[in-house]
Amino acid sequence: MKRILIVGNWKMNLNTHEASLLVKRLHDKIQVHRDIEVVLAPTMLVLQPVSTEIDRRKFGLAAQNAHFKDEGAYTGEVSFTMLRDLVKYSLVGHSERRIYFNETLEVVRDKVQAAIRNGIIPILCIGETQHERAAGETKRVIHDQVTTALSNLTPDEVEKVVIAYEPVWAISTFGGGIAKPDEVKKVTDQIHYQVKELYGNEVSENMRILYGGSVDDHTAGGYLSIEGVDGLLVGSASLNYQKFAGIVESAHRLIHKDPPKNG
Ligand code: PEP
Repeated sequence: MKRILIVGNWKMNLNTHEASLLVKRLHDKIQVHRDIEVVLAPTMLVLQPVSTEIDRRKFGLAAQNAHFKDEGAYTGEVSFTMLRDLVKYSLVGHSERRIYFNETLEVVRDKVQAAIRNGIIPILCIGETQHERAAGETKRVIHDQVTTALSNLTPDEVEKVVIAYEPVWAISTFGGGIAKPDEVKKVTDQIHYQVKELYGNEVSENMRILYGGSVDDHTAGGYLSIEGVDGLLVGSASLNYQKFAGIVESAHRLIHKDPPKNG
């Protein structure tokens, strides 16, 4: 059985001191879970200090982004090569990067390939905007984002990629709409189908798919119950140790079929 993967994207928040405080609080609140993998994605600046503070049995690390070249004259950038001993995962193609930093389908593809080349598991973020949704383009957008991003990989490499379905309109900072479970399932089914068509059934079945978009400790269980959702990518709620620990707790309850503590 796949372990549930819960990833906290801290975005451009928390300085070194604040990050260290959050890590301490998360340590106190979150237990070691054999069947849940909890991953923190702090800013580039605090990845190194956080790496010395975390208990590796409880937390893994992810970068939020990196450059697709391994080295060179790219002022201000950090490569996946430089991150390889520090992180297990990296977000790639987050909607904020696509929208604010003009990351094209091809740039995202090159970043996915660079992550894999450097032994880092890409968490490929995909999702349609409100405008695309209203125009009935969700299926096409997801198709183009998935097929382009994976196009330079072998089936063995594709199997390692984690795909995070994050409808842009459901991300808290872009409007925070609530995606219904059947809407999420429709898209995760489409992703599985596309991967199956291109890379075979085994790759599709082994690949992990996350949901992300305004998930908190109250909604986590519902999204995790959707067949085909293997975990969550959490933004705002990951900055609040009680909410983030509550999300991990929901995953634990789901696996062990425990009712919520407050009834
Ligand atoms: C995100 O930006 O990846 C995200 C899921 O954010 P939020 O949980 O705040 O909607």
